[in-house]
Parts: sequence; C-alpha cells; structure tokens
Amino acid sequence: MNQSIVIVNNLSKKYNSVYAVNNISFKVKKGEIFGLLGPNGAGKTTTVEILEGLIRPDDGEAIINDIDAIKNTKKIRSIIGIQLQQNAFFENLNLYEIVDIYSKLYSSNNDPNKILEKVELASKKNASYNELSGGQKQRLAIAIALVNDPLVIFLDEPTTGLDPKARRNLWDLIKNLKENGKTILLTTHYMEEAEELCDRVAIIENGEIIALNSPEKLISNLISSGFKAQKKINEATLDDVFLNLTGKNLN
Ligand code: ADP
Repeated sequence: MNQSIVIVNNLSKKYNSVYAVNNISFKVKKGEIFGLLGPNGAGKTTTVEILEGLIRPDDGEAIINDIDAIKNTKKIRSIIGIQLQQNAFFENLNLYEIVDIYSKLYSSNNDPNKILEKVELASKKNASYNELSGGQKQRLAIAIALVNDPLVIFLDEPTTGLDPKARRNLWDLIKNLKENGKTILLTTHYMEEAEELCDRVAIIENGEIIALNSPEKLISNLISSGFKAQKKINEATLDDVFLNLTGKNLN
C-alpha cells in the first residue's frame, strides 16, 4: 500500500494569465482512495484531466504506474478508467449494448454481464439509459470506467445530485472497488463523502494544494489548534433519519 502509483510533480496550467493549477505536487498510493477537494474553480477538473491525458499542462510532471501521462496519453488510457459525463451515452441502446460498445472500443474481452453485475445493474441490462434513476446512471458510468479493468479509476463528483440512499449505495460500490485492489482518485464537493471514503485528501484552492493528509489527521490537527465547533454535533443526523425510514438498499 505504500508504493505510489500516481506521481504529480510541480504541475501548472494557465488559462490566459490565470493559473488553473499552480505548481502542485502529490502522490497517490497503490490501493488507496485519494480525494481532491475544493470549491468550484479550484482546479480539480484541470488536474484530473491532465492526468487522464486530455489536457496538456504548461509545466510539471504526471506519472501513472511508471508511464508518463503527458507524453504517453495512449498508453495511459489503457490503464485508467474514466467516468464519462452523461451526454456520452447512446440513448437508444440498452445497458448491455452500451457496455459492450465501450468494451469493444477498448478491445477488452470483459463480459458486459459481469461488469453490469459488479455495479448491481444486471437486472437492468435490457433497459435504456433514459429509464434509469440518477443513481443507476452514475453506476452505469462507473461500469464503463471498468471495461478495460483499469489500475486507476478517476471519479469526478460521482454522487452529485443523488439522494442520500443512492449516494450511500454508490459509496459502497466505490469501497468495493478499493477492496478489489483498485486505486481511486475522486473529486468531490461533499466533505462527508470524503470523510467516509478517502484514505487521504488534498484540499485545493486557487490552483494550489493548501492541505494534504488523512481526514482523521486533518480533523485532529484542527482540534489541537484550539478549534471549537460552533454547533453541538448530534448523535444522529437528518440523513440518518431518512436512511432509517427508507432503508439503505436501492431495490
Ligand atoms: P474545478 O474542477 O475545481 O471546479 P477547474 O479545474 O474546472 O476547477 O477550473 C479551474 C480554473 O480554470 C477556473 O478558474 C476555470 O474558470 C479555469 N478554466 C478551466 N478550464 C478553462 C478553459 N478551458 N479556458 C479558460 N479557463 C478555464
């Protein structure tokens, strides 16, 4: 678990005169869930898209599994999984056909049925994309990220817009990917999501990393600096009430 699979050194990207990413460095260990956290416009997507080989940085180095992600984008795409945005789906095909097309694009021999099973969509294999709930759509996006059996999976705000039940369900899926040896780099706006899932997080603001550690360590550092929460923390939250009433399982 201590071996780094993603190495980012002094990465920078400027748009006009503004730095979207300003000299950032971090490493992601093999098998961990690493979170990039920050407000809108912080530079999360730019960082991730450089690693995915979609954007060229102005400066710096990005290496995934010993492959140069800036120079060798084709090789990089064969070892990473990218969660596609919703407009990339073929609306007239069923889920089996969608996963099959992406498998073929990656020249993968993975059985679409097995991939749909992994994301608990096997029972929906004959449904079309438009018939899916928000949570099911997100799970399909993750299914497609899995077609080439990637070493590193990039998830860009995977639970945005989902209800609490679907969100928890997706968290379980992401934890399951980690248990199966995948390394995951995710961006999120949700701090409770980062706390639940991430082994370590980098907090980004204005293109710079302003903190990097495990959620537990960041919290304990804050407490030892004398911080007192303004509001008393309850033993249960409204989120817990909702889950307790509606149950955790999707079906
Ligand atoms: P985040 O993902 O954290 O919301 P982004 O990486 O998308 O942040 O954006 C970082 C900054 O770079 C923002 O100020 C954004 O407006 C700017 N930016 C991103 N992409 C472009 C682009 N193609 N052209 C000009 N500015 C961009």
